[in-house]
Amino acid sequence: MDVEGFAESMAESFRVPPEMMGGQEELDEIQRNVDETLEFLESRSVKGTFFVLGRIAVKLPKLVRRIAECGHEIASHSHEHLRLYNLSRQQVQDSLAGSRKALEDASGTPVKGFRAPDFSINAQTLFIFDLIQEAGYQYDSSVYPIAGHDVYGIAGTERWIHRLENGLIEYPLSTAEIAGRRLPALGGGYFRLYPLPLTRWVLRSYEKADKPAMFYIHPYELGNICPGVPGLSRSRTFRHYVNRKRTKARFDKLFRRHRFGRVDEVLRDRGFLAAAR
Ligand SMILES: [Zn+2]
Repeated sequence: MDVEGFAESMAESFRVPPEMMGGQEELDEIQRNVDETLEFLESRSVKGTFFVLGRIAVKLPKLVRRIAECGHEIASHSHEHLRLYNLSRQQVQDSLAGSRKALEDASGTPVKGFRAPDFSINAQTLFIFDLIQEAGYQYDSSVYPIAGHDVYGIAGTERWIHRLENGLIEYPLSTAEIAGRRLPALGGGYFRLYPLPLTRWVLRSYEKADKPAMFYIHPYELGNICPGVPGLSRSRTFRHYVNRKRTKARFDKLFRRHRFGRVDEVLRDRGFLAAAR
C-alpha cells in the first residue's frame, strides 16, 4: 500500500491545482481512505506493508501508529511525493533519513523498507541504491524491471527478489511475460485496467515459479474518496478512475485463492531477512 494523497501523486504527471495539495482536505482524504483500507483488511484478516510518506507521519502521526498497531508493516515512500531522479543527491539523502525518522517516531516500529515515489530510480541514477543502504534500510522495492515506460523502469533487470552488490535486498515490482514482452502488472492502475483473469494469470505464474509477487495499490483506489482533478483529458480520466468501485470485490476474489502478506515477513520466509528477535 503506497500511502499518499491522490493529487500529490499526480502532480508530476499533469497539472494539478496547487490548492489541492498539502492542505487539510488532502489530509482528510488520506485519513478516511486509510481508515477504510484498515477496516477492509482487518475484516479479511490480511496484513500488508504500508509505504508511507514521511510528511504524512509528521502531519498524521496517530494514523501511522494505528496502521502499525493493526499489524501492518510501516515502510518509507520517501518524505514528499517527488521523483528521486529529479532531486539532488543531498535532497535524496535528506528524504531517506527524514522519512525514516518520522515514520519510526510515529509508528514506534523500525523501518526496514523503502519505495521511491513513481518508482523513480532509473538506469542513470543507480547510485540511489547506495544512498538507501547508507540510510539504514534493509530492502528496496522501487524497481520496475521493464522497458518503454515514460516515467519508470530499469530494462533488463532481475524479476525476482535478489540482493544488490551493496547488500541491499531488492524486491522488484511484478511483470507479465506475454509473447516475449515484459509488461507491468499487479499494480494499482494495472489491476484496475486489466481484466481480472489476467491479474490472476500473472499471480499464478509467480506461484508456479515458487516466487513471491509484488502487488501494490493506493488508499484512494481502495477507499471511497478520490477527488476529481479539473481539466483532465478523457484518457487520463479513464486511466485514473476506471473500475475503482470494483476494487474491493476484485480483492475478495484474489484473497480467496492467493496468500498476501507483509514484505518483511515474505523476506524472512525466503531467507533474505534474519528472523525476528
Ligand atoms: Zn506513490
